[in-house]
Amino acid sequence: VRRRSGALRDALRAGGLDALLLSSAHALRYYAGFTGTSGLAVVTPAGAWFLTDPRYREQARAEVRGMRRIVASGTLTGEIAARGLLQGCRRAGFEEEQVTADLLAHLRRSARGTRFVPAGTPVEAPMLRKDTEELAAIRRAIGISERVLDEVLGLLRPGLREREVAAEISHRQRLYGADGDAFEPIVAAGARSALPHARASAGRIKAGEPLLLDFGCTVAGYRSDLTRTVVLGRAPARLRALHAAVLAAQEAAMAAVRPGTDGRTVDAAARGELRRRGLERHFVHSLGHGIGLRIHEGPRLSARSTDPLAEGEVVTIEPGVYLPGFGGVRIEDDVLVTGRGCRRLTRSPRDLLVIA
Ligand code: ZN
Ligand code: ZN
Repeated sequence: VRRRSGALRDALRAGGLDALLLSSAHALRYYAGFTGTSGLAVVTPAGAWFLTDPRYREQARAEVRGMRRIVASGTLTGEIAARGLLQGCRRAGFEEEQVTADLLAHLRRSARGTRFVPAGTPVEAPMLRKDTEELAAIRRAIGISERVLDEVLGLLRPGLREREVAAEISHRQRLYGADGDAFEPIVAAGARSALPHARASAGRIKAGEPLLLDFGCTVAGYRSDLTRTVVLGRAPARLRALHAAVLAAQEAAMAAVRPGTDGRTVDAAARGELRRRGLERHFVHSLGHGIGLRIHEGPRLSARSTDPLAEGEVVTIEPGVYLPGFGGVRIEDDVLVTGRGCRRLTRSPRDLLVIA
């Protein structure tokens, strides 16, 4: 916590700010240790305050470190005004992607002389490089998801509904120690697998068609994210060819990951492999994203991303191709950026999983 509050003081200095307001669940968890859903933190060079409402009095006492705790009787912004926490503060940074228009209006009313400016990037930057404890949580989340993948493969049979498979995934992840799903599991069979973000439906799995499974879980707030493509019975030659192309794209991307490289260079390595096979136009999303307390965070790996990679970041590498009417293939692994390249944290086999 001390190291993390130091990062906030650096952000204040670098941004020429007199205060920072933290309002997102992930920033409050990272900087204050709070795992509840209602809180606000005010950080100034003079000190740091964590505000919550009476429902979280005990939880805040147990969890919040490195900040003075305030349990507000009215609104949190009213409490900021009443205590003059932003008194004399000219510029205050806020998390622009996390703040509602309503909260911003209340903040402005609670501190009339203060200008509120976007500061989401400096607040989030320290979260991207994971320390040992954070990495351990991500590895545990990955371990649970991979155990569940293994078990669910054994349950698959023609006629099973997508949502039955999704329910098995969620249930088993919890059973094995996850706090919950990292996001709603994607289970997409047949032509539906050509929808990159299909929700599990009442549709049934058929033999000889692609089945795409994309899921993850949360451990101590940290997430896993894994995709495999499966087929029951015999795999059609076209599906094998698509899978081989996506795997080659993923290998090329992993070989391009190293500190200092930007997101678009890694994305381009994958896209180039697909272009050589005439499949580039079917790769309709970006290559990957950072994972941590959020399922999507920096650095972004996309055609436009100039985000530089840094040692200690954990990113997904998830190329895919989607043919309308036929189906899709995606392979997604989580990798740690190391000093010289990357290390794959997910260990499940990456072949087209053919289930007899
Ligand atoms: Zn995923
Ligand atoms: Zn992902």
